[in-house]
Amino acid sequence: MNSTEIKELKSLLAQPKKIVIIPHKNPDGDAIGSTLGLYHYLKSQNHEAVVVTPNDYPDFLKWVPGEKEIVNFEQKNDQAKKFISEAELIFTLDFNHFSRTGQVEEILNNTNTTYVMIDHHQQPDDYAKFTYSDVSCSSTCEMVYHFLGMLEATAQITPEIASCLYLGIMTDTGSFRFPSTTSTTHRVIADLIDKGAKNSEIHQQTFDTNSYNRMQLLGVALNNMKILPHYHTAYITLSQKELDDHNFKKGDTEGFVNYSLGIKGIIFAAIFIENEAEKIIKISLRSKGDFNVNEFARKHFEGGGHINAAGGRSLMSLEETQQHFEELLSNYEKELNYED
Ligand code: 5GP
Ligand code: MN
Repeated sequence: MNSTEIKELKSLLAQPKKIVIIPHKNPDGDAIGSTLGLYHYLKSQNHEAVVVTPNDYPDFLKWVPGEKEIVNFEQKNDQAKKFISEAELIFTLDFNHFSRTGQVEEILNNTNTTYVMIDHHQQPDDYAKFTYSDVSCSSTCEMVYHFLGMLEATAQITPEIASCLYLGIMTDTGSFRFPSTTSTTHRVIADLIDKGAKNSEIHQQTFDTNSYNRMQLLGVALNNMKILPHYHTAYITLSQKELDDHNFKKGDTEGFVNYSLGIKGIIFAAIFIENEAEKIIKISLRSKGDFNVNEFARKHFEGGGHINAAGGRSLMSLEETQQHFEELLSNYEKELNYED
């Protein structure tokens, strides 16, 4: 965003407005943290702000300040539609294309209002009047921190806002270990702690509230892991039955894909999760180094994301998807056969 646009946006925000803030479907820590962080700021400036999520989010995010005020589009459809149709400004956070909002996509396509995008995914779409895109940034939460800086509002960051933004930076950087974690990220985190984010509590509330069933499901996932040494690749499968047997709840498989990357020599990891209700296999992809999983997901699995973390879907069966994935790898022989 250039300085003229910032000026224009600032003057738009100088008067109270009806504002809707939307994250992507199946919101994660960064999506919930960034939308609620911005929400608290806009409310403090007397705007009528509301966060509308396309659907529900995992229990491990049900402590975030303000989450009880979220309007879930799936559960409160009429209310959500009313907010969207009356919005003078719509902030879209942590996604790059309306299709990432699931069933909200059609409504957004037909809503004539001013859009502001804040996002760090590759290849952003051009629907927004104001686009703040930074694919090198660790998280949308870090971008919201910088955005508040552009609005000269850093001093207005409350402990609530700080907690929300800390959350998304923590989850999107794998607790500050992925290559997207820069010295700036750490400076932002330090400032958020100074502004009242209780760092240790946030880690505990997010990561130490697992159910026994979830831990058992992780055991099944690790047991199912298949290694393809020739391609330095490992993948995990979870069938609908395995999920049902462990009383699967949204978010229970979050982070499972990363375990494969913990194996020495593995640079490409995938997880295939059967979803009978949606009749798809949900796919998460992760990589180390230059192997571009965003391209891989876009090309083969109707998805996208970042260079080292992306997702997509398959309409084939779980077995067929696995087989197709293994076949695809031969096209990437060169990229995956790095020198040990
Ligand atoms: P995850 O594997 O944790 O669901 O997602 C990893 C990254 O890929 C996230 O940044 C997420 O927004 C993106 N992503 C996940 N699934 C999809 C998808 O189906 N389509 C696109 N375009 N991006 C996805
Ligand atoms: Mn993100």
